[in-house]
Amino acid sequence: MRPRAALIAGVAIVMTASGVGGWLGGRAADRRAESMHRDHARAVASLVAAQSDLFLRASDAASVRRLMLDIHDAGGIAACRVVLPGVGVIASTNAGEIGTMELPETWADSAVRAERPASDATVEVGFGVPGRGSGVVEADMVREPSVLKDSVLKALLVGGVLCGLLLLGFARVVRGQRAMVAVASALNAACSGERRADALRVDGQAGGVAEAWNTMLDERDALSAQIADRAVLETAGQPGSDGAAGTAACDAMASGVIVFDDSQEVVYANGAAGVLLGISRDALEEGTLDSVIDDEAVRGAVREVTETAGRSAWVRDIVRGDNSEDPDAELRVTVRSIELSGTTMASLLVEDITQQRLADRSRNAFVAQATHELRTPLTNIRLYVEQAIDEGDEDPAIRAEALNVIGSESRRLERIVSDMLCVSEIEAGSLSIRVGSVRSEALFDELQKDYRAQAAEKSIELVFDLPPKLPAFEGDRDRIAQALHNLIGNGLKYTPPGGRVDVRVELPESGGVIVSVADTGIGIDPDECERIFERFYRASDRRIAHVTGSGLGLALAREIARLHGGDIKVESAIDEGSTFTLSIPAQSGGEGEVGRAA
Ligand code: ADP
Repeated sequence: MRPRAALIAGVAIVMTASGVGGWLGGRAADRRAESMHRDHARAVASLVAAQSDLFLRASDAASVRRLMLDIHDAGGIAACRVVLPGVGVIASTNAGEIGTMELPETWADSAVRAERPASDATVEVGFGVPGRGSGVVEADMVREPSVLKDSVLKALLVGGVLCGLLLLGFARVVRGQRAMVAVASALNAACSGERRADALRVDGQAGGVAEAWNTMLDERDALSAQIADRAVLETAGQPGSDGAAGTAACDAMASGVIVFDDSQEVVYANGAAGVLLGISRDALEEGTLDSVIDDEAVRGAVREVTETAGRSAWVRDIVRGDNSEDPDAELRVTVRSIELSGTTMASLLVEDITQQRLADRSRNAFVAQATHELRTPLTNIRLYVEQAIDEGDEDPAIRAEALNVIGSESRRLERIVSDMLCVSEIEAGSLSIRVGSVRSEALFDELQKDYRAQAAEKSIELVFDLPPKLPAFEGDRDRIAQALHNLIGNGLKYTPPGGRVDVRVELPESGGVIVSVADTGIGIDPDECERIFERFYRASDRRIAHVTGSGLGLALAREIARLHGGDIKVESAIDEGSTFTLSIPAQSGGEGEVGRAA
């Protein structure tokens, strides 16, 4: 039988059973009440008959009537009366029924002697008064309304409620059955290899089993994600694990990496992070945000990222702090958020930007110095042009001197600009030389001319010691001139007035050139003799503070020498002087372009 037909049959049975049950119950109750009232009427009638017999023997009809009053007061019957044949009603609970108050000496003696039912509602009991006549006591039963209808209605109501409960139960069973079917088919799919929660999910409206199944799927997914995350974090770094390569790469990074979880505890830190922050790696890995990071702004950023999943990237530069070997070193901290299985973590990238900062500062200083250095020759050129215009026509000697200075200052300007260009070429790795034949005589003549005035101005004796024969050699004329300008220029710059600068030139027969520039200047601290060849480096000697310079000349000169396969060496002693020796070997490849990365 189909469930729906069974349900209808069940409802019909319950309602019929309820109706029949109600009717039977009501009828039995009616009968019980009637029988009870009849028994009561019979008992009252019998009692009144016995008493009336006694009272009437003594012709005391008044007592019979009092008895009626007592019966009326006692209740339990509708009415009661004493009837004498041929005389009528002599006493009654209903005073209006009494026909006569006078009792005759005798009256008819009818045949009634025993109880007999007068009707369905009245019980009659006879009595006889010896020698006078007989009588009848009529007791009317109390009539109560039938409870049959009410009983049937109540039973039907109960039946209706039962049917309602039956329907509800049935609906639940049907829903549960549907959920079971859906879960069973999802289980079948899972057995066939389906793992996606979306595909295995069933309609949650279907009821408790379906909801429980869906919740179980959600918990399974959350658990697998947690297990996967933990496995990644736990196995990362173990040889042969999937995360080993990534962790090894992080460990090899020069920048520090720290990952904080949402409770701001360190879940990963590489070696560089410990070195940069001055904390041992063990302490770092067991640390918390507050124990690892001193800077309040960085802590705030990590908290913002982990607690509110706020800004995705945040950058701040900080000084390294006292717990490190180099407290002045500058660090750049970048905080980023990482989403991992529903939790937001924060990653900290810590980079050492000290060198970058130094280079930035040097570059800024260089721009300032270069501007300053450009201004001097430009001012000189302007002044001598004015002088040549004003006085040149009258005095040809003044004009010649002015033009001479203008020429020399223009070349100085050219050198500065060339240095600046070379520096950018070194930085870009594109500095190159063009090897050709260099006429050494012309080159050293020009150098002498360029520095004679400057040396005289500063009262420095500038001596060029040239070999008697000045053959040509192979090299890039302009670049070698640039390097020599820097060496001779430095000799004059860093030698106090009254000193001496010797330029000694050797031109070996095998080719190339060796030029040493020796001065009697301030000298260089032995610790700084190599560092002065670094770009933007200037010695820490306080005496050079007022001397303009960019810290680029020697770096450039050494780069040029090395591009030729040669080098520059320095020997120096503080307060005694310095000797820079530039050596350019014979060029083997003949004419052409040579370049190398910086
Ligand atoms: P700068 O423009 O500062 O002269 P250089 O690269 O030419 O740059 O020189 C680098 C540093 O080397 C100088 O700042 C100076 O401290 C030191 N130096 C170079 N030549 C001499 C020298 N002849 N005597 C003393 N110190 C020198």
